[in-house]
Amino acid sequence: MSTRQFFVGGNWKLNPTSLSKAKELVEVLNKAELDPKTEVVISPPALYLLPIQAAVTNKQILVSAQNSFYKESGAYTGEISASQIKEAGLPYVILGHSERRTIFHETNEVVALKTRAALDAGLKVILCIGETLAQRESGETAKVCEEQLSAVVKQIKAEEWSNIVIAYEPVWAIGTGKVATTAQAQETHVDVRAYLAKAVTSLVASETRILYGGSVNAANAKDLAAQQDIDGFLVGGASLKPEFIDIINARK
Ligand code: PGA
Repeated sequence: MSTRQFFVGGNWKLNPTSLSKAKELVEVLNKAELDPKTEVVISPPALYLLPIQAAVTNKQILVSAQNSFYKESGAYTGEISASQIKEAGLPYVILGHSERRTIFHETNEVVALKTRAALDAGLKVILCIGETLAQRESGETAKVCEEQLSAVVKQIKAEEWSNIVIAYEPVWAIGTGKVATTAQAQETHVDVRAYLAKAVTSLVASETRILYGGSVNAANAKDLAAQQDIDGFLVGGASLKPEFIDIINARK
């Protein structure tokens, strides 16, 4: 097993439907016995970030924003800056999620600019990458991941990778119940690490955590977590359920 700290993030997306329900999720986590070796991050919708942060009593649980813009201020209606997130005391932001890329048309370059701005503001970044089903079927998985990463590689220095956690999330596995097999996930994680070794440094390749995301649940987490190059998970649907605790404890 590597020395990379196991990481489990809960991406709540635009859920749940009220703040009181969001606080109930936190209550369950506050009371749970969480593997102290796991870094635990929850990512509620923007308007819930501060009340959820205040509701967290277990200091092991960190709170992350789901998005931030690459400009610090100005005429950008509806946006939130990385420095505002930092000022609010939140340590992480998720960037480049496939829903942002697909529904909100964020290009690799926009994701890279956002990553640059988030690091400049002092945030850590959960950087999402991953291929569509068509891209996997045409054998383009590694190429797509490399292109998504290479835009970021151009923007940041080798030493800054310690503030980035990569989440490999095949688009066809997100919210579909179709989890990648342990072999598919492990293989892509190895490819991503090989790319980092080539494009950045071998140290960055061996130290950067690469999470898997896409239909992770309590039943499949243990097998995935046992893979050499899978350093944790970014969890959507199951992060809204009590089984999130089992996923946090997948290496226990
Ligand atoms: P899922 O979502 O676990 O519901 O598939 C994962 C994600 O989008 O991060």
